[in-house]
Amino acid sequence: MTEPNPFASGIAFCEDRFVPIDDAKIPMLDWGFLRSDAVQDTVSVFDGAFFRLEDHLMRFERNWTKLRMRCPHDRDTVHAILIEAVRRTGLREAYVQMLMTRGRAPVGSRDVRLAQNKFWMFCIPYVWIARPEQKEHGLSMHVSGIQRIPKESVDPTIKHYHWLDFQMALMEGYDRGADTCAVIDKDGNISEGPGFNIFAVKDGRVVTPPDDVCLDGMTRDTVFKLAGETNLHVSKRALTPDEMRAADEVFISTTGGGVIAITRVDGRQIGAGQAGPVTKRIDGLYWQKRKAGWYATPVDYRAPLRFEPA
Ligand code: PLP
Repeated sequence: MTEPNPFASGIAFCEDRFVPIDDAKIPMLDWGFLRSDAVQDTVSVFDGAFFRLEDHLMRFERNWTKLRMRCPHDRDTVHAILIEAVRRTGLREAYVQMLMTRGRAPVGSRDVRLAQNKFWMFCIPYVWIARPEQKEHGLSMHVSGIQRIPKESVDPTIKHYHWLDFQMALMEGYDRGADTCAVIDKDGNISEGPGFNIFAVKDGRVVTPPDDVCLDGMTRDTVFKLAGETNLHVSKRALTPDEMRAADEVFISTTGGGVIAITRVDGRQIGAGQAGPVTKRIDGLYWQKRKAGWYATPVDYRAPLRFEPA
């Protein structure tokens, strides 16, 4: 009889070893935990292949560099760790997150420059922001008055864990019966949501908030590529909550599910109350092209193993 796979429900890479996800630990004194001094990137795997892996690795590297961190592994090694993690779980659909934390400085020091930065990653079964039946009907969104942490405080293109604004906006949204939320920028325009970018469609034209008020989401960029292929015009500009409420269609983009319709905003129905034609077209193309191998890095599930298990 073969042994059950200890990584079947997820795996993490901690202190240079693979461990089952339930055994993954980050030391309490790591400033990644105590100060949210950390950066991450999340990639998806579908049909046994990563999507835009090189682009995610580049964004991750760009971001830890902005935070003046040093990754203990070169990009090829990080690439190999991610592939091996998925291969060890055997998952064909996975949610893969890589992280850098500031780490700890020598005992007694508070000097951030002296901290030993740490690399971590985990891989779990794919996480959908919307369950399939929710995706079918679209999500309802609450537009919160809470401001996303502004670019003057933290560069929004760094994929970080400053999420108290989102968490509290989500609480407000749940209190009002909404599925999710959007937060605003300092001028009261739409910024982004917990784990996604936002688009509104009016008269066939698509609008999304500008680069300096949200993450440069990989799926947002993928939407630009897909829109370009279908001659759909997308502009990056300030989007007011009222404009979004009056849109023909609203959709979000995320590694956790691709393109998902928002069919109610603040209790008001958007368009016909279901995913509209532009949302459907982009969503359909996204999955169709992924299935056909677009930007795919397949995982070889039989490749020899290189890194230590626990
Ligand atoms: N905005 C924020 C704040 C996010 O955390 C995320 C993803 O986690 C996104 C947008 C969407 O980015 P991506 O398409 O790269 O998943």
